Amino acid sequence: MFQKILIANRGEIALRIQRACRELGIPSVAVHSTADAEAMHVRLADESVCIGPPPAKDSYLNIPAILSAALVTGAEAIHPGYGFLAENPRFAEMVEAHGLTFIGPSPAHIRMMGDKIAAKEAMAKLGVPLVPGSNGAVTDVAKARDVATQIGYPVVIKASAGGGGRGMKVAQDAGSLDEAFSIARAEARGAFGNDAVYIEKYLDHPRHIELQVMADDQGNVVHFGERDCSLQRRHQKLLEEAGSPALSAGARDRLGATATAALAKLGYRNAGTLEFLYQDGQFAFIEMNTRLQVEHPVTEMVCGIDLVREQIRIAAGATLDYTQRQISFSGHAIECRITAEDPATFTPTPGRVTAFHAPGGLGVRVDSGLYAGYFVPPYYDSLVAKLIVHAPTRADAISRLRRALEEFAIVGIQTTIPLHQRIVDDPEFQRGDYTIHWLEEFVAR
Ligand code: ADP
Repeated sequence: MFQKILIANRGEIALRIQRACRELGIPSVAVHSTADAEAMHVRLADESVCIGPPPAKDSYLNIPAILSAALVTGAEAIHPGYGFLAENPRFAEMVEAHGLTFIGPSPAHIRMMGDKIAAKEAMAKLGVPLVPGSNGAVTDVAKARDVATQIGYPVVIKASAGGGGRGMKVAQDAGSLDEAFSIARAEARGAFGNDAVYIEKYLDHPRHIELQVMADDQGNVVHFGERDCSLQRRHQKLLEEAGSPALSAGARDRLGATATAALAKLGYRNAGTLEFLYQDGQFAFIEMNTRLQVEHPVTEMVCGIDLVREQIRIAAGATLDYTQRQISFSGHAIECRITAEDPATFTPTPGRVTAFHAPGGLGVRVDSGLYAGYFVPPYYDSLVAKLIVHAPTRADAISRLRRALEEFAIVGIQTTIPLHQRIVDDPEFQRGDYTIHWLEEFVAR
């Protein structure tokens, strides 16, 4: 096992990884920007290193500074968390080139899945169903028109290098295609430095259902069931559930069997998530994330396993402790992403937290770096807390969530807690009756 691990991240996920390290008896090194000197992940760290000024490009994305911090402190492995460098294949390669272990998949798999066109091609070859669309990149508007006519409108034009809900343009009809196509390419070039785009049918009532997988170096692959992440705003997730209110155990098993067989053939290693759109009983793959995800706790709650611990063990060469049959699902879990944003306009609300009280009690988990007196800096993602509840049934989980949201006090800055309270009280949400378009309409009501 590793003697020391460096955590190349901040906020709640840095704390989350620190906790897993501590339970494994492994000292960890926190890194931070000058803006985060007082952050909880630094305060609770065994050791910490300042890696640069506030802008992420100078600190949390500063590869030489992070590698130096690892070498100077004698860390043997680096956990990247999510965001920042987690899906940067160059970073994973450089970690390995410095004789350290990257806690995650191989750089080749990170690269393959980071290129969404390549990812779809690979999955199609492995027998995973896709959303109908162009086979590969579309480089001119005439081809775009052909593809769109063939699959039927509406269509979505996506950046191959896209992520985080960015780099997507919908064309409702032939009249809007040319413009959508050229905007999508220009935006992809600007945001990702790569103007490769592809086209998919834009589904009108899908759910976003994703599957958590874990694979070891010995070729064993298991899945930990699905998460329903259909509640999204601007293609970004806000509330996630495990399991999906729309999926039967049989459908989950079939999806799991297809996905794990595909990843075994690919020789994939460590944690990953396959994302699908699910409509009219059909699954269609959209992308794979080669890292731990924000919403991983709902899976942990229903499976009773620590996914970060598994990631670390596997990176150290250990074999998965269980077979698929030994993984069982118990109860229902829901996560609310609580952000420092105005709950009506979604304008970021950085500032000083003057009072903080986290809810507790049976089946309540709060992953957050907040505390009274903490200043939420304006430089980073606005996620400040994740509230996760677990209960025997979905109805019980909703009651527990309502109670926990009422107890939650974050004073001094506005957060999205009131929005989550409205969602929880909505009858359609309570029935589990929603698609990826539901929240956008709900917010506009
Ligand atoms: P990102 O990497 O930016 O998260 P994804 O490809 O995972 O992009 O898509 C993000 C979200 O956009 C999905 O969860 C879904 O809500 C929506 N979306 C993506 N592709 C389609 C599609 N073909 N039809 C309808 N909605 C889609």
